[in-house]
Amino acid sequence: MRITDIRTHVLSTPLEEPFAFSMGWVRQRSTMIVEVCTDTGVTGWGESLCHGLQPPQIAQTIVQAALKPLLIGQDPADVDVLWERMYNLTRPFGMKGAVPNAISAIDIALWDCLGREAGKPVHKLLGGAWRTRVQPYATGFYRVEGKSYPEDAVAEARRHLAKGFTAMKLKTGFGVEEDIRYILGVREGIGDGPKLMIDANHAYNVGAARRILKAIEGADIHWFEEPISPEDIEGYKELKSLTSIYLAAGENEFTKIGFRDWISRRALDILQPDLCSAGGFTECRKISALAQAWHTPIIPHVWASGIGLAASLQFIATLPPAPLALKPIEPLLEYDQSLHPFRQDLIHGAINLRDGMVDIPQGPGLGVEINRDVIEKYRVG
Ligand code: CA
Repeated sequence: MRITDIRTHVLSTPLEEPFAFSMGWVRQRSTMIVEVCTDTGVTGWGESLCHGLQPPQIAQTIVQAALKPLLIGQDPADVDVLWERMYNLTRPFGMKGAVPNAISAIDIALWDCLGREAGKPVHKLLGGAWRTRVQPYATGFYRVEGKSYPEDAVAEARRHLAKGFTAMKLKTGFGVEEDIRYILGVREGIGDGPKLMIDANHAYNVGAARRILKAIEGADIHWFEEPISPEDIEGYKELKSLTSIYLAAGENEFTKIGFRDWISRRALDILQPDLCSAGGFTECRKISALAQAWHTPIIPHVWASGIGLAASLQFIATLPPAPLALKPIEPLLEYDQSLHPFRQDLIHGAINLRDGMVDIPQGPGLGVEINRDVIEKYRVG
């Protein structure tokens, strides 16, 4: 099988109701999709994570200008070699951020090609699945103009519970006193049952995060995600030694080299690489091996549209329980419930909550089919 073309599709659409997290207002949902065409007629799909504040055209330009010339004529089965070549070429200008973000989309598409060619889901090519379904947690709770908190967050939590979610993650990072009042208020409003996490998107320094951690100790918070800056490994280590609440981060870290220090210095309780940003399957399976060697669980960050969601489920299927036991601690699926006009339509609505769980797609490749009409509807580049 040889690669004959690499196509990029940039999709974007404004949101009727913009929402905020601690770093700014999200006014549109966007993505950059890669389509890898081959001489056997097999086509593979991949996606770059597009954060709410990130222009998707950056990843497109990297794919088209820097990476595509390396790949035309190559065999997707050489995926490991191709990954290292892409990384080596771009290392001087892109070890973190937009470049691994673009490489991720290509890598996911190459694995999709391999799976479709073999007639097997990607998780089978990666060594098999530990599970056929995964417990999702609802990501949402963004701030919307004109609403009041915690009251409207409690109402949102009840909607997630009614759908079958048993775990959810609050957006925080809006001020120490405000966050403490909010977290305690939501916990009181929903009761003791649901698993509750909080995410500040690195809005704090160590001192501020420490005050929040101490004040919410009795609220049974499962993890505190990105309390502080993704550059501050020492700060994470300091916080981790002060609290029984798990510390989680990783959506702003990239490649096995980037994760190496976080893992070996034991700075986190939970690692959150994003498959669509940290380097795709090829790199994230290596991050997973490093994490396993240091006995640290991975619960991936997921905020992509349907292609990235399907790919992330394939990856989650392969994550070994850490540790393996009769009743192991299982990874969760981050299931974004915030407004996204094409997340589901792009994959014909193929991924859903069923009895509180989400099935790992079992079809070839990523296990979902792409709706080209949706690509044309939202195309901006
Ligand atoms: Ca996050």
